[in-house]
Amino acid sequence: MGRLPDWLRRAGAEGGPSDANMLARLTAAEAANEAKTRFLASVAHEIRSPLNAIYGYAQLIERGEGTDPLAAARVIRRSAEHLAHLVEGLLDMAQVEGGSLKLTREVIRFPEFLDQVIAMLSLQAQAKGLALVLERPENLPEFVHTDPRRLRQVLINLLTNAIKFTDAGTVTLKVEYRNELARFTVIDTGIGIAPEDAERIFVPFERAGGPAAERPGVGLGLAITQALVHIMGGDIMVDSAPGEGSRFTVRLMLSQPLTPPADPAPLAGAVTGYVGRERWVLLVDDDAAHLAMVRCLLEQLGFRVHAASDTATALALAAQVQPDLVLCDVMLGSENGWDLAAQLRTRHGAALRIVMLSGEVLHPAATPPSQPFAHDTFVAKPFDFALLLDVIADQIGVEWVRAAGSAGAQPAATMAAAPLSPVFVSAAAAHSAEIERLVRIGHVRAIEAEIDAIAALAPEAAPLADQMRSCLDRFDLQALARLARRVQADAA
Ligand code: ADP
Repeated sequence: MGRLPDWLRRAGAEGGPSDANMLARLTAAEAANEAKTRFLASVAHEIRSPLNAIYGYAQLIERGEGTDPLAAARVIRRSAEHLAHLVEGLLDMAQVEGGSLKLTREVIRFPEFLDQVIAMLSLQAQAKGLALVLERPENLPEFVHTDPRRLRQVLINLLTNAIKFTDAGTVTLKVEYRNELARFTVIDTGIGIAPEDAERIFVPFERAGGPAAERPGVGLGLAITQALVHIMGGDIMVDSAPGEGSRFTVRLMLSQPLTPPADPAPLAGAVTGYVGRERWVLLVDDDAAHLAMVRCLLEQLGFRVHAASDTATALALAAQVQPDLVLCDVMLGSENGWDLAAQLRTRHGAALRIVMLSGEVLHPAATPPSQPFAHDTFVAKPFDFALLLDVIADQIGVEWVRAAGSAGAQPAATMAAAPLSPVFVSAAAAHSAEIERLVRIGHVRAIEAEIDAIAALAPEAAPLADQMRSCLDRFDLQALARLARRVQADAA
């Protein structure tokens, strides 16, 4: 069973569970279950209110009587924004609490990072006439290790709240650093928090009453912030009183790298097209927005693109245009992409390359039905476009044209892998296939184990393993995937 979220564990702990006592554990499980039911009821409630507003105002506009359409549109937009925030927050929570959130460990330029966070919020503060101040000591280290995306999310959540709940005065981000312990304090001169609310505001959908309740928000920010801080091994505290402003303090261990990092390697120029004859691509997806996005990206590179949203149209188009490549979504409404792939394979043979795309890698339908697979490869959505281009190049063998300035700037992974004696090539290829799969789901620890397995194959495998490890250390998963694919291609 996954780790219980803090708020759920607290709810469970209310019954006073003791490991030795079965009854108490049952009570705790029931309490946790109740907390989950309450959570779902809150989600439904949070969704229903803005949805009602959208539904109601849309009907008023349709009737066209006595409604100011601009005012109605404003309510609809605000309600839609609220729903969008809610969905984002829920996805964050699902990731945090499902244990699927993997932290990266990167070296960041600490002072620059803080400046950027403040710059991101300065307009918001300015709009409310608030001063936004960054207080930091002179001796702050130049570089520290952290997951910048998650640390930024924590600081932005706290600063956004500080700005939201402050009408006059100052919002300060104070940063202290001693013995690798960083302390971030977000101080505001706002409405403050009553003592009875200080704990429950970290519970999803719980918001303080009084003047705070009138401000927009869904009540997920602090729950997510607290969960992120805990995952990063730190803690978060609040110190506040009504009318006297608030101080939220986050403490995190941020170690310093032993040696300053080298400047990042220059990136290869962006792909602008490909060499050779025009290639035809058939896109099959029931999501019109996704179709339009991928079509736009591929057409910019010179591909001829045809799109279908169902099996019948896809088969008809394929017969008509004889595409080089099919990018096919696994779930096509009520139809199944695997069936389509099988039919395409039967009709067009192995020359047609079929890449399956799916956003629901954990959904049972995302698993191919049976061997032999009709498709050539699989890419999980959302995908990085560079990764998709790598897959396309692998499948149809196109050579990319890159933007000027990239000559000679080869990313590490496109350099030839160190030679490996033939005996170990197939074993290395098998581990590489697994690495490629793990890269798609971001399972860093398992990737490390696969690299170790490659290193253990033979002394000659050490350079390849080192190259892979260096990609992983830089968290350049795309480069790692390219390298893994190259090892497999060499073995084929
Ligand atoms: P939201 O801001 O969307 O309501 P949060 O989880 O971020 O959700 O915050 C929960 C509640 O905590 C807020 O609704 C507010 O009552 C209280 N709160 C958070 N930060 C502050 C602050 N800086 N000053 C006063 N109240 C705050």
